Amino acid sequence: MDALLANPGCTERTRVRRLPEHAVRDRSALHQLLDAALVGHLAAADETGQPYVLPVAYARSGESVLFHGSSASRLFRLCAAGVPVCFTVTELDGLVLARSAFESSMNYRSAMVLGHCTVLHGRTKELGLRQIGEHLMPGRWEEIRAPSAQELKATAVLELPLDECSLKVSDGGPTDDSADLALPVWAGRLPLVRQWGEPVPADDLAPEHARIPEYIDRWRQRIS
Ligand SMILES: Cc1cc2nc3c(=O)[nH]c(=O)nc-3n(C[C@H](O)[C@H](O)[C@H](O)COP(=O)(O)OP(=O)(O)OC[C@H]3O[C@@H](n4cnc5c(N)ncnc54)[C@H](O)[C@@H]3O)c2cc1C
Repeated sequence: MDALLANPGCTERTRVRRLPEHAVRDRSALHQLLDAALVGHLAAADETGQPYVLPVAYARSGESVLFHGSSASRLFRLCAAGVPVCFTVTELDGLVLARSAFESSMNYRSAMVLGHCTVLHGRTKELGLRQIGEHLMPGRWEEIRAPSAQELKATAVLELPLDECSLKVSDGGPTDDSADLALPVWAGRLPLVRQWGEPVPADDLAPEHARIPEYIDRWRQRIS
């Protein structure tokens, strides 16, 4: 297992075959992507074999990722039952505008994790919820009301180990065929930069609570 942990893309199932030069085998780069993104896609097949892919919030916790969701959700019930899952996280970094349709592409960082989820209970479940909350908005968990016993019951928290995973990163400009270089077409990269907008207060926010917390300002300054 240590060997798996050391090396994204090192199993037969996770070896990047298509454009293998984009494979990244650096575990810290995997961590960086998982820490930077806020949304992933979790996939599992039901008993008929039909796969379902759903967008989910998540957080990295050491060498695992954590998910939370309704205990009644089909996806979470499937995952809690231990079916094989596939989890992906993608950050789109820009468009690669080549002179031909064939060479036009995207710049991205993209991770895939294969495995089985386990269900967290008790203290680790509560800690997991906190970690997901803090991943989305660092500094807020201390301020908001903690989940009640009823809310905890209605929420499943799952852990997926980062044992079998891969990371693929595409960056750089277009690589056009030399025959296309003289075409009268602009070519290059269009980087994509994400940033938060202005906070919009809730309609029912009491005036005495109107001050924007510092942790929101700090988070807004982060551009991924
Ligand atoms: C934003 C975005 C847009 C894309 N658009 C397209 C598109 O329109 N058409 C297209 O053909 N491809 C696209 N790709 C690339 C696509 O994700 C696959 O890498 C590619 O299609 C090769 O698939 P494959 O099954 O042949 O990969 P293989 O190389 O055979 O996959 C083997 C293993 O490599 C790993 N792997 C493969 N791809 C990725 C990945 N993206 N991230 C992490 N691990 C990976 C997995 O562990 C996988 O099991 C896109 C990728 C991103 C991130």
